[in-house]
Amino acid sequence: MLPKYSLIVPIYNEEEIIPELYRRLSAVMNRLDGLAELILINDGSRDRSLQLLRELHQKDPRICYLSFARNFGHQIAVTAGLNFVRGQVIIILDADLQDPPELIPDMIEKWRQGYQVVYAQRTQRLKEGWFKRFTAYSFYRVLKKLADVEIPTDTGDFCLMDRQIVDILNSMPERTRYIRGLRSWVGFQQTAIRFERNPRFAGEVKYTFSKSLALAINGLVSFSIVPLRLSTYLGLVAAAAAILMALLVLYWRLFVPHSPLTGFTIILMAIFFLGSVQLVSVGILGEYIGRIYEEVKARPLYTLAEVGGFYDNSNSTNNSDKLDNFQDATQNLDKY
Ligand code: UDP
Ligand code: MG
Repeated sequence: MLPKYSLIVPIYNEEEIIPELYRRLSAVMNRLDGLAELILINDGSRDRSLQLLRELHQKDPRICYLSFARNFGHQIAVTAGLNFVRGQVIIILDADLQDPPELIPDMIEKWRQGYQVVYAQRTQRLKEGWFKRFTAYSFYRVLKKLADVEIPTDTGDFCLMDRQIVDILNSMPERTRYIRGLRSWVGFQQTAIRFERNPRFAGEVKYTFSKSLALAINGLVSFSIVPLRLSTYLGLVAAAAAILMALLVLYWRLFVPHSPLTGFTIILMAIFFLGSVQLVSVGILGEYIGRIYEEVKARPLYTLAEVGGFYDNSNSTNNSDKLDNFQDATQNLDKY
């Protein structure tokens, strides 16, 4: 019997949280109107997370897990989960319980009303530092201005998606998986559900500043070419400034006896200004070219070291069912 609901949770060094996560999630799963599977993706954890996932899988057949051969990052972990789902309704949430599982029934209610995507929008971030709040706040607003699809502000990956949407996401070949952007790109009926973001249940934040920055740049570069145009604009501004300056110097030279614009200062300024404009432009170009390079190499998105569940479905007594599931899972392994 295939599950109706698939929950996807990426795990990176979350040993302190896994027992509580399981407790809260299974309470919610028990209340749902259909069978639910929970797919946990171990993103190369260095603590006991994988061991705990194995134990959970032994204890509860609704739990399946994928284990990466190394750390590939949150977005890739979620992508792997999406590749393996079997349910009709897919829900993505973080392991640290910042995304309250108790919201899931409300999301499902919206799905029943006909929405294919229900994303959770933060009204408040409780107890997160001012720096994180400020950078996140500004980033989402800049992205909204620049992106060519409307990506709602203050939304993360916590969402519900219909199978139809997930199939489209899975068919997208691109490697830069900015899931909240791709989800908006797909379209269909989307709606928000508002919530207060809780503080992390336990443990350290796994998104370091550099990981968050990389995610932000990925988001901008994969959903907008405005930064490329920026160098054109900067170049035009610099050219206009140069022409103005030339006219000024000419005027001073001809009509003002003791010209104030002599010496190296002005030359140095011009050199620094143009130098930085050029470096920034090359850097921006580099962001795009680097991504083209990544796409062209077309390496697999992740490597799997271990898979638990999916085919040894102990709920199913029917052998052909088991075989189907097994084939599904191995096909997935081939593809990714
Ligand atoms: N995570 C992951 N791989 C990473 C970093 C984080 O799978 O390289 C997972 C982590 O276990 C958690 C989720 O991504 O389930 C969000 O991470 P975190 O709570 O540290 O970041 P936040 O979004 O709260 O800043
Ligand atoms: Mg978190």
